[in-house]
Amino acid sequence: MQPISCNAMSDGPVIGALPEDVAIAIVGAGFGGLGMAIRLKQQGVHDFVVLERASDVGGTWLANTYPGCQCDVPSNLYSFSFAPNPDWTHSYPLQAQIQRYLRRCAERFGILGHTHLSCELQEAAWDSTSGRWQIETSSGRLRAKVLVAAPGLLSEPVAPPIPGLDGFGGTVFHTARWDHRHDLTGERVALIGTGATAIQIGPQIRPKVARLHVFQRTPGWVLPHLDRAIPRSFRRLYARVPAIQRLARHGVYTMREALAAGMTHHLRLLSLVKLVARAHLRVQVRDPVMRAQLTPRYDVGCKRALLSNDWYPMLAGPNTELVTAPIAEVREHSIVTADGVERPIDSIILATGFRPTDPPIAYRLRGADGQLLADVWKGSPQAYLGTAISGFPNLFLLYGPNLNLGHSSIVYMLESQIHYVQQAIALLRRADVKALDVRPTVQRAYNEDIARRLSTTVWDTGGCASWYLDANGRNSTMWPDYTFRYRRRVDRFDVADYDIEHAARSPAATTA
Ligand code: NAP
Repeated sequence: MQPISCNAMSDGPVIGALPEDVAIAIVGAGFGGLGMAIRLKQQGVHDFVVLERASDVGGTWLANTYPGCQCDVPSNLYSFSFAPNPDWTHSYPLQAQIQRYLRRCAERFGILGHTHLSCELQEAAWDSTSGRWQIETSSGRLRAKVLVAAPGLLSEPVAPPIPGLDGFGGTVFHTARWDHRHDLTGERVALIGTGATAIQIGPQIRPKVARLHVFQRTPGWVLPHLDRAIPRSFRRLYARVPAIQRLARHGVYTMREALAAGMTHHLRLLSLVKLVARAHLRVQVRDPVMRAQLTPRYDVGCKRALLSNDWYPMLAGPNTELVTAPIAEVREHSIVTADGVERPIDSIILATGFRPTDPPIAYRLRGADGQLLADVWKGSPQAYLGTAISGFPNLFLLYGPNLNLGHSSIVYMLESQIHYVQQAIALLRRADVKALDVRPTVQRAYNEDIARRLSTTVWDTGGCASWYLDANGRNSTMWPDYTFRYRRRVDRFDVADYDIEHAARSPAATTA
């Protein structure tokens, strides 16, 4: 395993015409799509394309460029196991570094030449006669025997349905679409939302704005952030002796799994986390009224715990106001809260999150009977192993339903999943295998088991309304166990879980 440098970056992704027919089409060039492409390449499979709607690779780490954007999973764990990065400058990686890391991976493993940028999937429909996905993109059409969809979980920003927001006369933008042309200096700024994104932004912009009004609907649990600069000597050591970084990675992984124990199996362990969070609040916020406003009323872990050392001090700062009254309406140059107070505002920043349980891709995929995935899911995404969906042959979702984590790195889950999909693809590359479709009974039993196991986790019992729950109140996002259990579960592709359609008699040779 060669370490990979994240600091150097070269230009030149290949943007060629789409092929008419490929073995595998991968949608998305974030950690999931790139990881899949790299593993295929390493396996000697070259007949694939990566379709990416953005103008570069990186997925969420390309899209989110707001001030202070940083991953809250430690650096050593937030990278591919096969491409360690000795150049992380912080124990928690910064957005620009992650994006550069992914770009370097795409270059080094030869993925750019397969990648079609600014190419958005518009519709893909399974054609059971030809055994191909018929794919429409913004750059043209193609057919693929296998479709791997890796659109990411948190890629569709949500603008809240606040009355009058459309008529606001100042500047308004979502955190995932940060307007870098707009200068907030000296402005009266409204920051709506107090989740993982808002707490990174607030302390960054407060020094430059005239006034920062933070509109909080639900206070979250905030823990001390253990982020540290990684000394140059350490980085050199990681580069020279990759085994040391691997050891560090294992250490971080193991500690993180202990958190999974608290969230899923032994909820009482979370009282320790709560003690730390309460102490953090007590030390950082002296005013008892504000402290009460900031004290969460749900169990720690139910929503994603927030990491910050400067959020609370920022809220107590001279030019900041914590607003806890609900927003009643937005007017042309102000925001009015339910208590009748009107605050003049120049810019509104929507730190209001994403729409993971009703993803746009579900409105773009049609299965064997022509049914739209969104109509099958009806607001409650379900899949087998978060990967295969009955009625949608040869389709594999990466970071699909019930694979999200509250404690560890999604890259670990993705690598597990990719290993599983690779086995399915190996089978499908045989000319005599036309299609694999997961059996409905297998998918149903799996999801019943997941729901049963989730029912006792903190996400379902912790008394919060989080984005983990879908419109039907079902938890369709979280993985209810340790990550190594998922890895074991997907270690071997069991063909008995699938209905196999064989092609008309032909020699059992590979197709790609
Ligand atoms: P989020 O966790 O969904 O938070 C959205 C915030 O907006 C919440 O405080 C929510 O309040 C508030 N909100 C939503 N609608 C509102 C309305 N109509 N009026 C007032 N407030 C409203 O979104 P996020 O902060 O962008 O984070 C989303 C996820 O992205 C995180 O959970 C995490 O997984 C990921 N993330 C990760 C990192 C990282 O470091 N790796 C950084 C940022 C984000 P309620 O709580 O009352 O709903």
